[in-house]
Amino acid sequence: MKAVQYRAIGAAPEVVTVPDPEPGPGEVLLRVTAAGVCHSDIAVMSMPEVGFPLPLTLGHEGAGTVAALGAGVTGFEIGDSVAVYGPWGCGTCPACAAGRENYCVRAGELGIHPPGLGAPGAIAEYLIVDDARHLVPLDGLDPVRSVPLTDAGLTPYHAIKKSLCKLIPGSTAVVIGTGGLGHVGIQLLRALSPARVIALDVSQDKLALARAVGAHETVVSDDKAAARVRELTGGRGATAVFDFVGAPPTTATAGACVAMEGDVTIVGLGGGTLPVGFGVLPYEVNVMSPYWGSRGELLEVLDLARAGAVEVHVETFSLDEAPLAYERLHAGKIDGRAVILPNG
Ligand code: NAD
Ligand code: ZN
Ligand code: ZN
Repeated sequence: MKAVQYRAIGAAPEVVTVPDPEPGPGEVLLRVTAAGVCHSDIAVMSMPEVGFPLPLTLGHEGAGTVAALGAGVTGFEIGDSVAVYGPWGCGTCPACAAGRENYCVRAGELGIHPPGLGAPGAIAEYLIVDDARHLVPLDGLDPVRSVPLTDAGLTPYHAIKKSLCKLIPGSTAVVIGTGGLGHVGIQLLRALSPARVIALDVSQDKLALARAVGAHETVVSDDKAAARVRELTGGRGATAVFDFVGAPPTTATAGACVAMEGDVTIVGLGGGTLPVGFGVLPYEVNVMSPYWGSRGELLEVLDLARAGAVEVHVETFSLDEAPLAYERLHAGKIDGRAVILPNG
């Protein structure tokens, strides 16, 4: 089959032919319908070393139809349309038992990796899913428009849920970076809370998308952005800041615009940090850096999509065009999320 692989440190992703995978006991083979392209892959491909062997088939947002069931798998039929819960864990530790496999305490020790981030990923004609519990039926949702919900939806959803009790009427949420995750994050905030949403980005196109998906205000992300947020909030600052860039200038903006008792959530992998200490930030600010979300939260996100509360903006590419999709994402030229159609 054809697959898109990261083959050597620093190399560009390549379309290659690899052996057709076959599901072992307990595994499920999916014919991939759609696979999302996340900026985290670009972060991984710029690291001097990675914690798994190369070559690696990319893609940690996957949706497909069940093509074959390994020995012992029940509960799914050939042809079922499913999305894949990506942060695979051991399945039995306390976090996994609660469906929070993103925080599995044993994944490292057992060498368990998410697809596309250590295990073979979804940007390929076929994908092996290591356990049927990682499959979520799409139940009528369009796989192309919903595949980004498995990460670009789930990750902001998990982050926003942590701050929901603070996002009361009169509160303000700031979204920094309105790309794949951010443009879904804005819609989730609008669906889940009465907060006023202020979106920050460096690109006017992205700010236009932010307004189109529900941001009340947009602000250019520069060294004056925090002052502008304070102005827009009558001096109070933002109740919650979701930083989907996480680079030094944006974590600085987040710290400078958050309100007393507010939350700063650093989701982006941009290498920025935010020092915490008495008098460094406004009183009682919480700073968090979450990873992905739980299986239960993925079901909730898909239910929100079914209710029409979130709509991902997608740009589609064939499998052969996947390297181009990565180039365009790297250049900031994707509006919403790039989705690869490996069998399209
Ligand atoms: P993306 O490229 O689609 O979006 C990033 C957006 O940030 C773009 O709109 C870009 O214009 C904007 N941007 C760049 N520099 C900026 C700045 N200084 N100020 C404001 N906006 C700026 O990326 P994505 O796929 O949405 O991913 C966003 C980040 O989240 C990445 O760092 C990714 O690695 C990370 N991520 C983290 C998790 C997690 O679990 N923590 C999960 C998925 C993605
Ligand atoms: Zn991702
Ligand atoms: Zn576990």
